[in-house]
Amino acid sequence: MRASNLLAWLRHLSSVRGINASTKQMLRMYRYHRVPFKIILNNILDLLDKYDARFTFTVVSSIANEELVQMILDRGHEIASHSLYHVKHQGLSFETQLGYIRRSIEMLEALGASVHGFRAPYNSYDNNTYACIDELGLLYDAGVRREEYLRSLTKPFHMKIDGKDTRFLSFPVCHLSDELLDRLPQKTVLNSFLEVIDNMGGRDLSVLQLHPIRIGQPVYLGFLESLVKHLASQDYSMPTLAEVVEKKVPMPTVCLSGDIDCLTFSDYLRRI
Ligand SMILES: [Zn+2]
Repeated sequence: MRASNLLAWLRHLSSVRGINASTKQMLRMYRYHRVPFKIILNNILDLLDKYDARFTFTVVSSIANEELVQMILDRGHEIASHSLYHVKHQGLSFETQLGYIRRSIEMLEALGASVHGFRAPYNSYDNNTYACIDELGLLYDAGVRREEYLRSLTKPFHMKIDGKDTRFLSFPVCHLSDELLDRLPQKTVLNSFLEVIDNMGGRDLSVLQLHPIRIGQPVYLGFLESLVKHLASQDYSMPTLAEVVEKKVPMPTVCLSGDIDCLTFSDYLRRI
């Protein structure tokens, strides 16, 4: 399809469906999904193997399949829940949220994963979401919390909800995101990441949020490799989130994590 036709079609789609995503963002996702997801994932896994690094993929269970799950598990990485559908959890009833998260765990486990954590789609939470995570006995929440006061934390922490500590743990997440790659030159983004890592000064823990659909693109593999290579050279271990919670790893640690919420462009269109 020619780019101008595609743009016209995406504009039409967003006007008839009242879609929130910009046509620019839709076009970007169209381009990213031209590379089959299996190749994107393999690119990432091959690179991580070289540096003995692990990745925690939070996966929407309704788009998951056995091949995807096995590819990830066979190479020693972790799968966590990214809910049943890619919908905002905030504002949904406790029962609905519990149903979505429970079903997603059942589906991922039926495909062979052992699920210990959750991240809400669109990072959309409310107190019901947190109550569900505790109710289901999950060990951690991988939600992205980038508030200033969390930046100095160096360990997983229990959030306070209504004055009470949650049973599950949350993680301090680096305030940078690979989304910067859509706006800035790779070198600039890489330097920002390396600066943050160097300023961590060997502290215990941070989590880097990296979207597989972007960082597995052939054009960004150099960025990913420079990042992981730098971490390895600074003696950071790169374990899964569950390994950190279960205290199976030496510190200091940088965990790599990101969502898989669509395998194809039509998954993306269904979701927006
Ligand atoms: Zn997502």
